[in-house]
Amino acid sequence: RDQLRDRLRIAIQKSGRLSEPALALLAAAGLSWQESRDKLFYYGESLPIDLLLVRDDDIPGLIADGVCDLGFVGRNVLVEQDYERQSRGEAPAFRELRGLGFGRCKLMFGIPDDWEWDPQAQLPGTRIATSYPALLSRWLAERNIEASVVTMSGSVELAPRLGQAELVCDLVSSGATLASNRLKPVEVVLDSEAVLAGPAGAIADARAGIAELLMRRLDGVLKLRDSKLLMFQAPRAILPHLMQLLPDAEPPTVMSLDGGTQTRTDGDVALQALCHGAMTWQRLEELKRAGARGLMVLPVERLLA
Ligand code: ATP
Ligand code: MG
Repeated sequence: RDQLRDRLRIAIQKSGRLSEPALALLAAAGLSWQESRDKLFYYGESLPIDLLLVRDDDIPGLIADGVCDLGFVGRNVLVEQDYERQSRGEAPAFRELRGLGFGRCKLMFGIPDDWEWDPQAQLPGTRIATSYPALLSRWLAERNIEASVVTMSGSVELAPRLGQAELVCDLVSSGATLASNRLKPVEVVLDSEAVLAGPAGAIADARAGIAELLMRRLDGVLKLRDSKLLMFQAPRAILPHLMQLLPDAEPPTVMSLDGGTQTRTDGDVALQALCHGAMTWQRLEELKRAGARGLMVLPVERLLA
């Protein structure tokens, strides 16, 4: 079952929402591959890390069976299968190691437009369509609500129109799919994103070190992902106030613009700061209102602290 192996094997989704961002993240961590002809196996060239391309639903099981050491999968799939195993009395076989920040969505109830959400009064006796029966069942059990769970593998949002259920519990990102079926999202059952999943126990032999190295690199990439170099000019006197607006910034580099003659520029400074949060237009506008000028946001390619 857990044969000795000296190469790490990672399962990723073959084709779907998580495929491309997963490959991009691994490439940013310095991995490169040789694709097999059928594109189901990518042989790692720069590191002894191979990829197996599969259906996302198969990823937790591949980790549980020791076929793969790690996997990139939606938290929704990982938690669903974990609860399902628990309900069969099986021991935990996999766990989440890292949130990866892409593939964000929420597992939510979708109810008819004209309902007021009141789960305790409303849900008993209803039929709820979902692809996540274990997650939904646990949510209901925790609240002592007795409703029937109608398991569907896809097109869950059609179930109320087809008379198979009164409401749904489904993945939502924009809410557009629900809206076009005259349903509205009302309560979050699970906040999801793509995660790095691994076995419940430790990874064995030489693969432990490779996994360690990979996770350190992933941490570096993820930390830098939203980071930007922010540059602007401002009167020196308001710097403390501006830095309060930048709680996610590293200590800035501050350069005097007056060349020694304070009178010419009224003590203006130019400033550079590495910011770790998303630098949105709103934040730039806020800085401008507070007195910053010439705001410029630059991408950061690599960072070696
Ligand atoms: P597969 O063929 O691999 O089984 P799939 O159809 O199950 O593919 P996708 O639709 O590609 O899977 O979704 C993969 C994951 O993307 C989901 O499990 C979820 O974590 C995430 N995701 C993000 N936004 C959404 C969304 N709006 N709807 C569904 N999944 C989403
Ligand atoms: Mg799937």
